[in-house]
Amino acid sequence: MAKVNTALGAIDATDLGPTLIHEHLVLGYPGYDADALCTPYNKDELVKTCAEALDEAKKYGLKTVVDATPNDLGRRVELDKAVSEKTGINIICSTGMYMEAEGQPAYLKFRGQLLDIQAELYDTFMHEITVGIGKSGVKAGVIKVATGHGCISPYEEKVLKAAAKAQKATGVPIITHTQSGTMGVEQATLLIGEEADPKKIMIGHMCCSSNLEYHLAVLSKGVSIGLDRFGIEFLYPDNLRKATLVGLLAIGYADYIMLSHDHIANWLGRPFELPDFVQAMLANWSYSHVFKNIIPEVKKTGVTEEQVNKMLVNNPKRLFGG
Ligand SMILES: [Zn+2]
Repeated sequence: MAKVNTALGAIDATDLGPTLIHEHLVLGYPGYDADALCTPYNKDELVKTCAEALDEAKKYGLKTVVDATPNDLGRRVELDKAVSEKTGINIICSTGMYMEAEGQPAYLKFRGQLLDIQAELYDTFMHEITVGIGKSGVKAGVIKVATGHGCISPYEEKVLKAAAKAQKATGVPIITHTQSGTMGVEQATLLIGEEADPKKIMIGHMCCSSNLEYHLAVLSKGVSIGLDRFGIEFLYPDNLRKATLVGLLAIGYADYIMLSHDHIANWLGRPFELPDFVQAMLANWSYSHVFKNIIPEVKKTGVTEEQVNKMLVNNPKRLFGG
């Protein structure tokens, strides 16, 4: 049986159980640490916040969380480890790089003037999957890649190609970030063109579009899709996400859909209060929204327990090789 790297070591893919395929325990946009009023990092505090945030979802049966924070967005593997120990939830850590516009491409773009950064990215991904992340002893269990709005930049193309090669070498799956319902088809085409296994690719944030033509074009590549931003109504309404989900299930795609929230339990940087209208649009954004609200609501339209089980248990298991 395929083994999956988690924050606390390798487990069988069959032991993943109900899985949220794209979440974050912590996230910091590059530059947060240049803010003089940035809250100092306090691991114990953050462990507490994460455990509290996961508590409700745990009551609904949540067993595994994929922490999709890549190398350049403030990833804290020691936090994943401590939260997993405290909660008993498996946490799968990522290796990978975010999109050029909001990640940290400067170092690689500088080196790229003279050196082969695609090869260097591949080395990083391979090291973090097979040796470990820093000195944590934690091995990455998933590769996270991302592209910007409406195009894949030359930098992002190198990240995706390095990821495809690392996936081919290790069997570790790739999950992606797409921006505002764009570039899903191009991501899948590029990754598969580099011989990544479509069964081990999940094109993410597809629920930021309800264009079924776009969904079917991505699905025609044989990859899975993540409807993985439930609750972020500031970006796209849940009603359209639900309509898309119900429609795709009705025409037979239950084996290719995974669910999540892209929730962020802690932001690195200066504390901030969201304006009231934004708060209202994020009222349901949590690790439990899918279990508590979305599943019961779509079940009223005829979605079955078997389909739900596929999306939360079987499909993640298969993505990870089980
Ligand atoms: Zn994310």
